[in-house]
Amino acid sequence: MSSVSTAELAPFQNEAYTDFTQPKNASAMRAALAKVRSDFGREYPLRIAGELRQSTDKLKSLNPSNPAEVVGAHHKGSEKDAIDAVEAAYAYFPKWSAVPVEERARLVVRLAEVIRNRKYEFDSWLVLEAGKTWNEAEADVSEAIDFCEYYARLAMKLARPDPLVQLSGERDEMVYLPLGVGIVIPPWNFPLAILLGMATAALVTGNTVVIKPSSDTPTIAAKFAEALLEAEFPPECFSLLVGSGAAIGDVLVSHPKTRFISFTGSREVGLHINELAAKTAKGQIWIKRVVAEMGGKDAIVVDKEADLDQAVTGVLFSAFGYQGQKCSACSRAIVHEAVYDEFLEKLVPKANALTMGPSDDFDNYMGPVISSRAKDSILKYIEIGKQEGRLVAGGGSGDGDGYFIKPTIIADIDSKARIFQEEIFGPVLAVTKARDFDHALELANDSEYGLTGAVYSENPKHVEKARKSFFVGNLYINRKCTGAMVGAHPFGGFNMSGTDSKAGGPDYLLQFVQAKSIAEKVG
Ligand code: NAD
Repeated sequence: MSSVSTAELAPFQNEAYTDFTQPKNASAMRAALAKVRSDFGREYPLRIAGELRQSTDKLKSLNPSNPAEVVGAHHKGSEKDAIDAVEAAYAYFPKWSAVPVEERARLVVRLAEVIRNRKYEFDSWLVLEAGKTWNEAEADVSEAIDFCEYYARLAMKLARPDPLVQLSGERDEMVYLPLGVGIVIPPWNFPLAILLGMATAALVTGNTVVIKPSSDTPTIAAKFAEALLEAEFPPECFSLLVGSGAAIGDVLVSHPKTRFISFTGSREVGLHINELAAKTAKGQIWIKRVVAEMGGKDAIVVDKEADLDQAVTGVLFSAFGYQGQKCSACSRAIVHEAVYDEFLEKLVPKANALTMGPSDDFDNYMGPVISSRAKDSILKYIEIGKQEGRLVAGGGSGDGDGYFIKPTIIADIDSKARIFQEEIFGPVLAVTKARDFDHALELANDSEYGLTGAVYSENPKHVEKARKSFFVGNLYINRKCTGAMVGAHPFGGFNMSGTDSKAGGPDYLLQFVQAKSIAEKVG
């Protein structure tokens, strides 16, 4: 098998986004959407280390823009399938971990190539199963490609650590070894990028994985599995197990041969996994490692000395891009009292003017939320918000059969209000008035989460203060708080936002390895 060397790979560069305003690109995208639609309703089997399995129980994934359309029918894994998947991953681990890192990196770079060649198709699956608009889908798929390219380079760097202090008469070195079987549990909101990022980081460092995708986006996971095989990953190095998180998730997490869990999702599920993984099962000979990246209640602080138009645009796109369903989405705008009214006067008409409808129509800026369950939960929060503050935009469902919710803004929210404290995960923005900049920072930090945050200020002292005391894993200054780029914005949050593993950053792969120090007497 051929392999890559670090010298052969050009320095990492972020994948360029397709410009859909170009007629040629728009027409290619429309053709891909039609092709993907013609594949709707197909059945997808379970994949256990290369073995395809069926079950009598199937999970149907729906197009959230039009829930009458069944995107894919997925065979659901049982408890036995979950146990078999962990056992098979454990059995194949010695072989996969012995594959030279250059070869594993070559496969990951090839995976990037496979996805790049099928980019319009992957974009289309994200539009139709996850309700992403074209540009949001393109950002997700490009990020997936970035993770491949970035982690391939990083893995090879990790294989050649900096030399240690050499004691006289010894050769001293440290090498990084893979951990073993990893359980990869992604959310639905970055159904390709996050799933792929966690899985490839584990695979490129020599671990085998069992992937349990979200029940809302299983077809995108099935397409990822196809891409792994097209890139010629050995089928035994991964399993793809669709099924209820509660039913098979607990089996995967608590299995004694599970070595680590790489999770991204809600605070509630992340804490549950962390607790379960901490219990030592019979026959288990290690402490399981849990990487859990969880929710957010992200704030943008707008100072009185700020470019207000830029601040309004930044809040608008951070709050309503992908219908507010990003862990980095701005759900709290904290505005200096001197510019509070003007800020709202500028923001509200812009929110009301956002176009909304089926996400396969390029002209819509907002698509649907992911499911009827999510829609119900968001609408309940809107009702709570109406009691807690002053509704100034939106406030209910949008038109059409899809799960549409109008961009909603609720002003005059107190920091103890539920919609200020709890993650809603939809297009709902709470706006709060601050007495001064210090008060604004205090309010921003009044949260159990600490994922992203932004500050709009032209005052260098205030910017400096935010750098030091705005307690978030990803701080942005005079720009929106969404849109982290691999390599430039290592991503992960503080406190209840998770373990701050910094996906897409130079230290990320350390989560997937253990270091062995070797000292040999010489001479
Ligand atoms: P979720 O927690 O409901 O589900 C996440 C995954 O966990 C899904 O695959 C689900 O099937 C699985 N799961 C559920 N119960 C389980 C169990 N008992 N054992 C094992 N797995 C189980 O989250 P979601 O609704 O898919 O995603 C939205 C959440 O993800 C939001 O809170 C958002 O902030 C968060 N998120 C965080 C980041 C980040 O980097 N911090 C990124 C994206 C999303």
